[in-house]
Amino acid sequence: MAPSAFAPPDAPDLAELRKCVHCGICLPQCPTYRVLGEEMDSPRGRIYLMRAAAEGRIELTETFARHLDLCLGCRACESACPSGVRFGSLLEATRAQLRRHGPPPRRRLLEHFIYSVFPEPGRAGAALGLLRLYQRSGLQRLVRSTGALRPFPRLRAMEGLLGDVPRAEPLPELVPARGRRRGRVGLLTGCVQGRLYPGVNRDTARLLALAGWEVVVPRAQGCCGALELHAGKTDDFRARARRLVATFGDDLDWVVTNAAGCGSALKEYGHWVQEARGLAARTRDVTEMLVDAELSLGRLELTVTYHDPCHLAHAQGIRREPRQLLRRIPGLRLVELAESDLCCGSAGVYSILEPEVARELMELKVARIAETGATVVATGNPGCLMQIAQGCRMRGLDVTVVHPVELLARAADAYPG
Ligand code: SF4
Ligand code: SF4
Repeated sequence: MAPSAFAPPDAPDLAELRKCVHCGICLPQCPTYRVLGEEMDSPRGRIYLMRAAAEGRIELTETFARHLDLCLGCRACESACPSGVRFGSLLEATRAQLRRHGPPPRRRLLEHFIYSVFPEPGRAGAALGLLRLYQRSGLQRLVRSTGALRPFPRLRAMEGLLGDVPRAEPLPELVPARGRRRGRVGLLTGCVQGRLYPGVNRDTARLLALAGWEVVVPRAQGCCGALELHAGKTDDFRARARRLVATFGDDLDWVVTNAAGCGSALKEYGHWVQEARGLAARTRDVTEMLVDAELSLGRLELTVTYHDPCHLAHAQGIRREPRQLLRRIPGLRLVELAESDLCCGSAGVYSILEPEVARELMELKVARIAETGATVVATGNPGCLMQIAQGCRMRGLDVTVVHPVELLARAADAYPG
């Protein structure tokens, strides 16, 4: 047999690749197959390519890399697969192999910017300060009305995602439990969530406290590394995982996240970093923590629909908890969204790097939302919040896009007791 095109460390597992029986059941669930209609842009096609490379039958050519780049990493294929192929870890390992040759030249600069700014709190804060200035000075209105960014589709995609950039809103390092104390949890504030949706973190901490948890919010926590893991930057990802383990220590009952992408990365830390297994086992999404909590909720007369973030539904198997929580709010009518677990096109930084495919998925999602007649969309991931809000803005759909905890916090405020 010819030597494999992959080399340790982090080579995709050949036994896992061979679990695929080519049945094709995953194909209709794959968003990129749906948009592009190419076998090689389906899970089965990508597994075929990865296996051929692992068995030394093909090289890691540009065409190979392109089919892997176009994958959203949404893991809808994992939910569908009867053979239990763990596509996400195969994709991450293959991207780690491709990463050794560097990003494709056409997006090298942009990737460099993304990975040196997004996960770094200081740089991200400075960039957001400049963006606030860009918005307040009227420059954003001018750029959008003149279409100045049209020749630069990736920059335009990044700019289009921006809603109003809020001011930083640091939480206290300790939020005491209210009522009967159940234990002590750590809150992962997340680099995107913390910067662009500080209210979601504030509401998360408040609800956890109302549910009886003392909430620790370490100031020094950095990025969890999810963006880097999904891009195959496994060395950087491991370094971030080790830092987070040291930051949270081991005296917490749980580590809580409210961002699906961060939660799925944390829960899979153990696969990449031996000493992170404990933290991985103690990680919970906020909806898992609250679903059985005694919360006093007042009425909210709203029609709400729910979009399943891929990294919550497919990667963590969490679908029931957010819906149950929303249904507990008196007066709230939850209407199901057709294809609620079809990717909205956000997928970390995919919407910036692959704007055409992302835009088609965004438009499909917004069309489905319009069918529901809901005035509020709830979803538990900052990327989905931004992408869906952008889609609704572009279509002129009068819909508010919020995290489920924001509705729960409003309902807690509305409690008459
Ligand atoms: S992760 Fe998503 S986009 Fe990639 S192959 Fe699987 S279903 Fe398709
Ligand atoms: S459903 Fe699973 S076994 Fe069937 S083609 Fe897709 S990945 Fe392979």
